[in-house]
Amino acid sequence: MTVAAVVPAAGSGSRLGADVPKAFVPLAGVPVVVRAVDGLLGSGAVDEVLVAVPAALLDHARDLFAGRPVRVLVGGADRTASVRLALDVLCADRPVGTAAGHAAHGGERPGRPGGDGPPEIVLVHDAARPLTPPALIAAVVAAVRAGHPAVVPALALADTVKRVARSAGSGVGADTVERTVDRSELRAAQTPQGFAFETLRRAYEKSGADGIATDDAGLVERLGEPVVTVPGDPAAFKVTTPWDLRIAELLLAEAS
Ligand code: C5P
Repeated sequence: MTVAAVVPAAGSGSRLGADVPKAFVPLAGVPVVVRAVDGLLGSGAVDEVLVAVPAALLDHARDLFAGRPVRVLVGGADRTASVRLALDVLCADRPVGTAAGHAAHGGERPGRPGGDGPPEIVLVHDAARPLTPPALIAAVVAAVRAGHPAVVPALALADTVKRVARSAGSGVGADTVERTVDRSELRAAQTPQGFAFETLRRAYEKSGADGIATDDAGLVERLGEPVVTVPGDPAAFKVTTPWDLRIAELLLAEAS
């Protein structure tokens, strides 16, 4: 079974305080998205990666990934749209040598390695999780191979969780606690999330062009189909703030 991974990296914002989008911020000298993609490819469980990037960084990204089994495309208006565009590219794949396949690749790009049509399994992985352990990536793929059509790495929460009533302000008193949520039933969902390709394709098709989800399994949940978890890994944390970037740098320094 072939396995493709989609990495949405087309966000333009950066909460990391850098002047480049978050996915392109260097982490110990290597852009975050390159580390994420190399983690996927290095796991040995992924055949090809599609990376959605901002239009302005298309050429730059193509240079970054030259020589790797990576296709770079321009992303959409939000994360969901970027993943949807990548799935469309995979759907258009046809066996190399057929007229349809030639047309799907604009007559200039070679087909996906193997050239045998859309993959059976697709992962969706945040560009902002550069230190995701290869073993976690392999575990997600193994669970899909074992017959689970939607798989999410999940971590129990260490903190007590409160539901609050939000107000417009910020600072002391802005939020009022309504109640404490039973955290034993809650999990933080990480990526990569793994899917039978057909399942994710149907989930995106049914969600419609306006369907927005903060993760991809959420769209499968809306189909009413089962989503299972595998144990997540703290090292798969999402780099969102300058603090996270510092932690990632320290972990890399420790490992080298
Ligand atoms: O902004 P946020 O952190 O929620 O974005 C999550 C991921 O989705 C990021 O990797 C970002 O680059 C990606 N994204 C995208 N296309 C967009 C907006 C965000 O691929 N238009």
